[in-house]
Amino acid sequence: MRLSVRLAVRLSGWWVLACCLALPALAQELKTKNVVLIVLDGLRWQEVFTGADPLLISNEKAGGSWTALPKLKSQFWSDEVHARRRILMPFLWETVATHGQLFGNRRLGSQAVVTNPFWISYPGYNEITTGVADRRIRTNEFGVNPNTTVFEWLNDLPDYHDQVEIVGNWASFHDIFNEPRSHLLIRSGETLLDPSATLPAARQLRELYETTTRLEDEDPMDSFVHLVLRDRLMEHHPRVLFVGYGDIDNWAHLGRYDALLQTVQHADAFIKDLWEQMQAIPQYRDQTTFIITTDHGRGSGPLLWREHGVKEPGSENIWIAVMGPDTPALGERTHIAPVTQGQIAATVAAVLGRDFRRFKPKAAPPLPIFKAP
Ligand SMILES: [Zn+2]
Repeated sequence: MRLSVRLAVRLSGWWVLACCLALPALAQELKTKNVVLIVLDGLRWQEVFTGADPLLISNEKAGGSWTALPKLKSQFWSDEVHARRRILMPFLWETVATHGQLFGNRRLGSQAVVTNPFWISYPGYNEITTGVADRRIRTNEFGVNPNTTVFEWLNDLPDYHDQVEIVGNWASFHDIFNEPRSHLLIRSGETLLDPSATLPAARQLRELYETTTRLEDEDPMDSFVHLVLRDRLMEHHPRVLFVGYGDIDNWAHLGRYDALLQTVQHADAFIKDLWEQMQAIPQYRDQTTFIITTDHGRGSGPLLWREHGVKEPGSENIWIAVMGPDTPALGERTHIAPVTQGQIAATVAAVLGRDFRRFKPKAAPPLPIFKAP
């Protein structure tokens, strides 16, 4: 039996209990009218909860950094772990942790895990968005996803029709969200930038995209994703939004710890910017829940941090953060039952007062975020 199956069996008992805690009192009592799911591809729980890794920031060979180590340390290091993680992700620690909840700090008895047995991206995004690990989906080149995501399901409800959007760097989001069937508005990979846009700023962005060497295939870098996202927000005001940032995973695969740290800081700043932009718009102010997570963890130590999958133990460990008007400010959750990646799908629906499991009974229940335990 694979580790993930054993975990799933152990977790199913917890779910019965967790489910009772997870359900919001009544949909009418919820304040959330909009929900945003943000995925930072391949960001380890170790960096989230403990900041820069002491080995990778101080060992040239292990970290593969091009930045001189004294300079890198002056930018990202503190001997004190709480200060260190705040340097790396100031918005997450100063705002999300003080107004919302975080799962996955294994040092404090909180585990967040993936239950698919592959620990790579497509199986992870499928589990996040559909609530169920699908053993058929074992590669990133799987093709069009036969499963219905919570985003497609919400888009088919009259209240949310044409108010659901997907924006990200990875071209595979077109497949993961089954664009031909779901008819979701998806901007990712090559289609991130609107080719018909004629405004000078849009033309400039396209020129930059075309003349900038990318890290992987046609996938634009996260800074492009963020600019497009801001435009979409202003023009369309979607009520349900998926955002996928991919640079962190790419820099890890390239073995550049200095670039990874900088990219995590940028991602944190993107999330802050998105939150503040939305709070400035009446439709979103005090009525929006953010769920922030990753599709998989990675290995650890001098070599394995670069990769993820079954050959890199620890890749199954993730983290999940939630902040919004219906999420009590419990901060870091400690000494609680393990939570899973699959619980995110039903949580996206639950904060809107919708029960995804009435449509998909096999989906994992929502995260236990609504009431203080
Ligand atoms: Zn990867």
